[in-house]
Amino acid sequence: MIPYGKQSIDEADIQAVVDALRSDFLTTGPRVAEFERRFSEAVGAKHAIAVCNATAALHLAMLVAEVRPGDRVVTSPNTFLASANAAAFAGAVPDFVDIDPVSYNLCPDALRQNWKDDTKAVVAVDYAGQAADMPALAAVARTNGAVVIEDACHAVAGQFQHEEKTWKIGGHPWADLTTFSFHPVKTMTTGEGGMLVTNNDQYAARARALRTHGMVRSSENFDGLGDPSFEERGPWYYEMQHLGYNYRITDLQCALGLSQIERLEAFLSRRRSIVAEYNAAFSDIQTIQTPRLRNPADASLTSWHLYTLQIDFDALTTTRTEFMRRLHEQGVGTQVLYIPVHLQPWYRKMFDYRVGKCPVAERFYQRALSLPLYPAMSDQDVQHVIGCVTRLSVVA
Ligand SMILES: *Cc1c(COP(=O)(O)O)cnc(C)c1O
Repeated sequence: MIPYGKQSIDEADIQAVVDALRSDFLTTGPRVAEFERRFSEAVGAKHAIAVCNATAALHLAMLVAEVRPGDRVVTSPNTFLASANAAAFAGAVPDFVDIDPVSYNLCPDALRQNWKDDTKAVVAVDYAGQAADMPALAAVARTNGAVVIEDACHAVAGQFQHEEKTWKIGGHPWADLTTFSFHPVKTMTTGEGGMLVTNNDQYAARARALRTHGMVRSSENFDGLGDPSFEERGPWYYEMQHLGYNYRITDLQCALGLSQIERLEAFLSRRRSIVAEYNAAFSDIQTIQTPRLRNPADASLTSWHLYTLQIDFDALTTTRTEFMRRLHEQGVGTQVLYIPVHLQPWYRKMFDYRVGKCPVAERFYQRALSLPLYPAMSDQDVQHVIGCVTRLSVVA
C-alpha cells in the first residue's frame, strides 16, 4: 500500500534517538535548545520555541498575541481543524474567510471585504506548502490592528518571492508568529512535535513561560511577563504570574528532529521532483486540474507537503468515494484535504456557520483529492500512482 503521506526514518535518525536514550536527559535537556537553535537558523527567525505539537504552538500563539474571550480570529476554511480550534481554546470566536481559487489559500480581497472590527488575529495557512499571500494579508490585518499568525505546518523550510526578493517562511516580516508541525506525515518529523517561531522578543519570552505552566525563574528574562515579585532570591526560586500549560517536547523527540533537519534539503528536493512528475503526467487530462502557484517563480521555493488535484468526478460519472476505493484496490492511498472547517458539526452548532459561507472552499472540497507524496516513494511508486490515476481519469 502506498499511503498519502509517510515519515522517512534512516539509521542515523534511529542512532540519534538511541544516543538520547543513553544520555542523562529524556525530557528538557540540551537537545531541545540545540533543536531550537538549528531550526531558527534554518527558517531565518530570531526565536524558536519547541513544543509537544503544532496545535500547542498555535494555542501559545493565540495567548501571546493576547487573543481574549470574545475576540474574533479569522482563518482559512481550507485547513486542518487545529488552525481554528486554537482560537476557540483561547475563548475567541474562530471565523472563516474564503480562499483564492488559484492557490486555495486565504484570499486577501475576501479578508478586506469581510473585515470585522473585533478581529484580533488572522491565521494564514500555507496550504499544501504554498506560501499564502503574506504581504497582502498582513497589509489588511495590520491596517486594522490585528496580529498575523502564519500556520506553516505544511511549509517547513518553504520560501517565496516577493518584489524580486526571496523570503523564508518563518523569517519574513509579514507574520508576527509562525507555527510548524513535525507530525509524521509532515515534511520532517519528531513523532509528535511543533515549533513556534517569532522575531518578537516579548512574544518569545511569554511563549517559553507558558510552555511550562507559566513558571519563570529569577535567572530568566522577564520581558513582557508582568512583574515578578521575587520575594525570595536564589537559583531554586520560581514563580507563576500567568496560567500556562505543559506543552514541553522531549529530548528524545528533539534528537530525532536534529537528525531529520540534516535531511531537510533532500526531503524538499525529492518532494519537488515528485510534484514535477505528477504535474507533467496530469496536465493534459481534461478532468484534472493540477495544483497551481500564485507566483510561478515559487516553483523551486515551495516546500510541498500535499499534492492535491481537483478532479471532475461528475464528468467521469463516478463519485469521489468510488474513485478512492478503486485506487485503494490498486494499492494507492489518497486523502481528502480539507473538509471546510466551518462546516464541521461543532462549528455549525456553536457559531451557526452554514453552507455558502465560503463558496470557493466548498467547491474546492467537492473535487479535492490528495495523492501520495513523501520522499521515500520510489520512482516505481510514482509511476504506479500516475498509471492508476490516469486510467481512472480519462473519459471513455
Ligand atoms: C498538522 C497541522 C496542524 C497541527 O499539527 P499537530 O502537530 O498535529 O498538532 C495544524 N495546522 C495544519 C495546517 C496542519 O496541517
